[in-house]
Amino acid sequence: MLDIFKQILSSLIKTLLIAGILTSIINYFTGAGYIETFTALICIQFVASYIWKSSARFILESKLIDEETKRLELYAMQGTDVTCSHCNAAAFIPVRFDEDNSFDCEMCGKPNSVYLDVTTAQKTTVGGDTSKINKIIDNAIKDES
Ligand SMILES: [Zn+2]
Repeated sequence: MLDIFKQILSSLIKTLLIAGILTSIINYFTGAGYIETFTALICIQFVASYIWKSSARFILESKLIDEETKRLELYAMQGTDVTCSHCNAAAFIPVRFDEDNSFDCEMCGKPNSVYLDVTTAQKTTVGGDTSKINKIIDNAIKDES
């Protein structure tokens, strides 16, 4: 609580100091009224500070939303859909190779172990020879008409 009061007090002192210095300069060169200039400068500083803080908060919030979206996308890339081994309820769990992937079911609360099985397969090439695919499509169209 004390920190907040210190912060408010220091920013008030800064605002008054800046307004005082600027008022002196303006008064010296233009001879404008001291109290009017001082009050106007304080008001301008409050408005500028409000606009600055609002836009900073807006930028920060949109950055946080972007970060959260990226984090969720990464989470979705590294996860998989599974079913609980006790109650068969569907669940989405993150999958990692460097950690034990066991999870507690959200429906029944019982623990589940996760075993990963990695298989390999030959890559299929698409687009190497499209003439065969085009012939198949042409024949299918002919058969339908
Ligand atoms: Zn369950």
